[in-house]
Amino acid sequence: MKILCIGRNYAEHASELNNPLPEEPVVFMKPETALQSDQEPYIIPDFTQDLHYELEIVLRIGKKSKQLELDQAWDVVDGIGIGIDFTARDLQSKLKAKGLPWEKAKAFDGSAIVSNMQAPSEFDKDHIRFHLLKNGVEVQTGLSSDMLFSIPKLLQHLGRYFTLMPGDMVFTGTPAGVGRVEGGDVLEGFLEGKRGIQLAIVNG
Ligand code: ZN
Repeated sequence: MKILCIGRNYAEHASELNNPLPEEPVVFMKPETALQSDQEPYIIPDFTQDLHYELEIVLRIGKKSKQLELDQAWDVVDGIGIGIDFTARDLQSKLKAKGLPWEKAKAFDGSAIVSNMQAPSEFDKDHIRFHLLKNGVEVQTGLSSDMLFSIPKLLQHLGRYFTLMPGDMVFTGTPAGVGRVEGGDVLEGFLEGKRGIQLAIVNG
C-alpha cells in the first residue's frame, strides 16, 4: 500500500509556514514503513531537533480507481479516520530551501500515525470536524469545509497521476496550529469528538 499526502490544504496553515496558497494540490508520499501504532511510546528520531505534529483527516481507499469523476469520488473511500503526519520541520526547511525532495523530513519510519477507520456513511462529509490536544490543551482544530481543495477534488487530482488501490491512505492536509513535540508530551487526536489517537512522546 501507499500513503498519499496533501500539503497546504488549509489557508491559515499555509500562511503560518509562510507558504503561498497553491494553485493545485501539493502532493507527496510516504511508504508503508512510515506507519506506526499509537500503542507504544513514540521515540523522537535522532535526526531532528524540531519534530512537528500535523493532525489530518485520513481516507482509506476501498477500490481500485483512476481518473475519477467528482461526483463518484466518495465511492472509492471505505474508511475515514484521523492521522498525524509527523514532520521533521528543521530538515524540511533545509530541503525546501535547496529545492530538494521532502522524503527524509516527511516519509521516515514512524512519520504516519493512523487511527481506526469509520464508515463514510457515519459522517456529514462536508463538515467533518477534528481536533488535537497536546498535554490536554487544544492546539489544532479543523473542519473539512475549510479545505482549499475538497476531498472529491483531491481524489480526482490524485487519480490523474496515481492508480488508487484498496488499502491506500490519503492524508488530506493539516489546519493551522502545527507545532513541536518534546519528550513527555501526550498527543490526543479526536474525530467528531471521539478520541482516535493517544500517543506518548519520549526522547530518543
Ligand atoms: Zn501534513
